[in-house]
Amino acid sequence: MNCIFCDIVNRLENAEILYEDNETMAFLDIRPFNHGHSLVIPKNHYSNFLEVSNEDLSAMMKLVQKLANSVKTSLNADGYNILSNNGIAAGQTIFHCHFHIIPRFNSDGFKFKMNLKEYEENEMREIAFKIKENLK
Ligand code: AMP
Ligand code: ZN
Repeated sequence: MNCIFCDIVNRLENAEILYEDNETMAFLDIRPFNHGHSLVIPKNHYSNFLEVSNEDLSAMMKLVQKLANSVKTSLNADGYNILSNNGIAAGQTIFHCHFHIIPRFNSDGFKFKMNLKEYEENEMREIAFKIKENLK
């Protein structure tokens, strides 16, 4: 299978690696929103978030939290975004599950909150109902 993140795990592709253990790895994103923008991945290949095993999920999220702290502290960031794009519609370009940790600065001017929508009457309740049905 052709996967650049698996290649990084297997040392077939270079990356600025920040951390690794048996289950997870973290490295710098080569096209950062801000310097220090990092990626956390499970070493096993899962094409998206929903496929990740419970064990790898827990290891990955622990590393996301640890790295968010380290990125924020080391770069003296004012905040950070944690996000995972899943599916082409969501902007996913690498189909090996990953979380972005993006350091944010009061002055960086990025606007993530674009195109916010509104609900019509009852729409919130109907949508919540559909989502809750699939949580059962
Ligand atoms: P996404 O668009 O959410 O799938 O994120 C993929 C991210 O991987 C992008 O932010 C890319 O800049 C980053 N990326 C792609 N190739 C590499 C690489 N070889 N090393 C580090 N980051 C990469
Ligand atoms: Zn992979």
